[in-house]
Amino acid sequence: MLIPHSQYPVRQTMEKGESLAGYLYRFQGGNGHRITRRLEHTLGALYRGTATDAPPAAFDTLQTLLGTSTVLERTWWLRKRRLPKCSNGHENSRPGLDVVPVRFCVLCLSECGFHSALWELPLIAACPIHQIQLYECCVVCGKTFSWSDLMPDWFCACGQSITNAPIRLASPGQLLFAQLLAGSDDIHLPSRFNDRVEPSLAQGYQLSEVYAGLEWGSRLRQALCRNSRQSSQQNQSKRKYRPFWSDDWVAALLMASPDELKHRILRILARRFRGHKDLLCSVSKLDWLYRMMLFVDTGSYGYFQTKIQVAVAQIQAEYQLKLPISSAVFYNPRISPTWRSQSQIRLMHWWANLSKHIGELNPEMFRHQQIKTTPPIKYGKREYELELLEILNRLSSAAFEQADLEDFRAFRYWWRIPKELRELRDPSDVLPKLGLHLTVIPDYELYFVGSLVRLACQAKPA
Ligand SMILES: [Zn+2]
Ligand SMILES: [Zn+2]
Repeated sequence: MLIPHSQYPVRQTMEKGESLAGYLYRFQGGNGHRITRRLEHTLGALYRGTATDAPPAAFDTLQTLLGTSTVLERTWWLRKRRLPKCSNGHENSRPGLDVVPVRFCVLCLSECGFHSALWELPLIAACPIHQIQLYECCVVCGKTFSWSDLMPDWFCACGQSITNAPIRLASPGQLLFAQLLAGSDDIHLPSRFNDRVEPSLAQGYQLSEVYAGLEWGSRLRQALCRNSRQSSQQNQSKRKYRPFWSDDWVAALLMASPDELKHRILRILARRFRGHKDLLCSVSKLDWLYRMMLFVDTGSYGYFQTKIQVAVAQIQAEYQLKLPISSAVFYNPRISPTWRSQSQIRLMHWWANLSKHIGELNPEMFRHQQIKTTPPIKYGKREYELELLEILNRLSSAAFEQADLEDFRAFRYWWRIPKELRELRDPSDVLPKLGLHLTVIPDYELYFVGSLVRLACQAKPA
């Protein structure tokens, strides 16, 4: 039976930002005791929070021990807790806390004299205040710190004082991760550090949102980098060894300003389309990148996801060519917006000249085709969509190179287009309108147009 705190002679109170385990250690130490294995075990059950019945029981035991002087916040401790592995960003709980190893910032410990709750968060490795690495092993005996092994007043079992450990600077990645966690509203830092936290960190988010954001951010990165053809098995085995929240790139993404965020996503998107020279790129429905785009339309799951959603939506608005097909079509992210608008202007002028010579499609005939044949894209078949994209890309590059209209003689002669396609006055309209028309013509016509365009491009002298 654990003896309630009210029965001890020395009764220290819990400090703001102090960890529960650290407080118990300090309280017991003040009375000449150490943390028993049993108490450590109870703490572990509450901290991990994985088994169904253990955490509430552990909570009650610890609350009884503390008595009325320290009231634990039930909702915080007993919220559903498991490591978010695969929740599609729907995660709304925080992960369990680490009771082992016990981590310390030696400078915080010297200044405050207590163990900070921040150091119990999984995988935290740095102090965001002092920008140094946390210790979880003794520098003399090398043993991992645990509450039941520590001697009172912050000494290792070997007799070494924890605060005597040398200072090691934290890496930028470790620091970023620690800052992200420390900025959560439900993490309280010791009062004396109130004015030492960067104001940019106080952004009004919860710890669970950090973890959900980290999860989604790492999925986003996968979506951006991964080609659908790449083996998913390879990725899975890699993921096993590298938990998503240890990812510096993702932590940096979450900390970024909206503009920086957009820039980062675009940069990785450009890497994804490395080797593509065409104006338009497409992503199939099965691609991870496509799923990323769906994410933008599906509700909001917290602070960081909303932040990412806004950036992704902006990128889509800027780069996507909206066509009623199952693939997503993008302006090549490797091509700058200025370059792109120049090539759109060229295309408009070149197309205006070319289309003057293309016969007009009889509306009767058009309607007849619409009734008698199924337009190709209705099937959502990738090969049709690729053919469509190739036509648009070849026309754009022909326009960009100011290709001789004579080369397009056969194209002009054999194809018929509706009148409105000859009257495009807005540079940003040409590709969408042309693309839209190509989605409604029958498949044999689409391939025919495709071969006429290829013929014209071949006619170029080498
Ligand atoms: Zn510190
Ligand atoms: Zn030691």
